[in-house]
Amino acid sequence: MYIVTAKEMYDIDQFSMDRVEMDGSMLMENAGREIAQRVSSMINFEQALCILVGSGNNGGDGFVIARTLLNMGYKVTVLQVVEDKKIVGHAAYHKRLYLKCDGILKQLNEINDVQEELNKEDVIVDAMIGIGVKGDLREPLYSLVNQINRLDNLVLSVDIPSGLPTDEGVADFTAVQADHTFVIGAIKQTAFIQHTAPSYGKWECSSIGFPQAAFKQLEMERKVWTKAAFQRTFPERSEYDHKGDHGKGLVIGGSSNMPGALGLTTRAALRSGAGLVTAATTDSVIKRIASFCPEATFVTVPEINGHLKYGNDIDYKGFDAVAIGIGLGREAASRPVIRHAAAAKIPLIIDGDGLTHLKADLEVLDEREEPVILTPHPGEMAMLLDLSVKDVLMRPFHYAKKFATDHGVYVVLKGAFTVITDPNGKQAVNTTGNAGLAKGGSGDVLTGIILAMIMQKQSIFEGLCNACFVHGKSADLLIQESHSQHDLLASDVIEGLSLVYRTF
Ligand code: ADP
Ligand code: ADP
Ligand code: MG
Repeated sequence: MYIVTAKEMYDIDQFSMDRVEMDGSMLMENAGREIAQRVSSMINFEQALCILVGSGNNGGDGFVIARTLLNMGYKVTVLQVVEDKKIVGHAAYHKRLYLKCDGILKQLNEINDVQEELNKEDVIVDAMIGIGVKGDLREPLYSLVNQINRLDNLVLSVDIPSGLPTDEGVADFTAVQADHTFVIGAIKQTAFIQHTAPSYGKWECSSIGFPQAAFKQLEMERKVWTKAAFQRTFPERSEYDHKGDHGKGLVIGGSSNMPGALGLTTRAALRSGAGLVTAATTDSVIKRIASFCPEATFVTVPEINGHLKYGNDIDYKGFDAVAIGIGLGREAASRPVIRHAAAAKIPLIIDGDGLTHLKADLEVLDEREEPVILTPHPGEMAMLLDLSVKDVLMRPFHYAKKFATDHGVYVVLKGAFTVITDPNGKQAVNTTGNAGLAKGGSGDVLTGIILAMIMQKQSIFEGLCNACFVHGKSADLLIQESHSQHDLLASDVIEGLSLVYRTF
């Protein structure tokens, strides 16, 4: 499923109409019919529907929905929120069909008490403004949207809640708060931005017949990483495999104040299919985590004030991938460990405090040829880019892509919606996971899963997407079966991985 900006959606529309010669009013019919079917499965014939339509294509979709539901036998009223002359093109055609089917139409400006009028209805279908919204809502829509948001009616939005921007990057907005949004063709970027996503309510996306080629011509791929994608790409283990076939991973980090982090990463990597995992850390950290991961082997690194000192003594020979920075601390004496690890000719994952050290020595990335994977949370991403966390949260797609393409690295920008970006700018969003993961240690677990995944037979990009998928899915299954978001621990998420690998 593609994730689009407004411009990309218009390009898909144009391509379908100009190059494939699809008829615009046919696409509108497809969209409206599909949505009407879905609406009808959610309501009963006793319920009265009010369909609010605006001037653009979104309003046109609204007229098709109104006609389809009317002809199915539902009680439908259309409330037109713009003047007649503003309804043109395909929308005007579908308005005509609705009226010829004896549909009831009311004009917003002829109604005295809109609140009272809407109160009489059971279901509000919002087809006022779609992806064509420009700037802040103007009157009368601004007031109307605020009134809708104060009602208890079921509110169903068509394609996108009216008033909501399609593209990331908008801080303030007034928009319909939908209970459910029926997305057309491709899901919009703002469905994955934390301050705009809630406006959609639950959403589902229907394909209305846009040709694959219309998506393929977009400059860069941006998709939702789905269960189907996971099942298609996740590699099987073969009957005759030996541990060497599944990668020998190295994790480097740990410090006296954060001994557990490295244990979580190590154990998560072992639980995710790695053939062998070695943890390189200080003697005191080894003593504290060894019993938590008995299958691991260890390399002792000298310490200074409870932190790793240099790292010249780590031999990278024989390892297939390395993850560094977990629980490392920010002691300057540990900084050279990053440069040292970066010299190893194997894929490198940098997480946590490793990212802070990296920031002081970013040229390390320019000298590397093998894949580099950075796993920042929004705070770490902001630190890497000299931005505020708010900036990053507002434009995660843009900033993750900027860093990834500027430095030729993979970026896993973590959060409620984790955005995975490859060095060319291709992106995917992971939608599994829940707020039970908003706890110390969750990211350390993810790093271990990533280490294991990128050593299996799948591309690095797929490995990263699949790692995020199983990490979140483990938390989701645990919440369903045995835990709550309050009590879920990062170590539970490691054990929950078994549920994911067994069921998917
Ligand atoms: P399109 O037909 O381009 O897909 P929409 O169906 O999303 O566009 O509707 C766009 C229409 O919404 C515009 O023609 C305009 O009349 C109206 N509109 C856009 N932005 C605003 C706004 N901020 N406030 C009120 N109406 C708006
Ligand atoms: P730590 O360094 O303490 O281990 P991070 O902040 O690095 O934690 O990582 C937190 C992990 O939890 C990330 O994978 C992130 O995607 C996930 N996560 C955090 N909050 C949520 C949330 N509300 N919904 C889904 N996933 C979340
Ligand atoms: Mg972290």
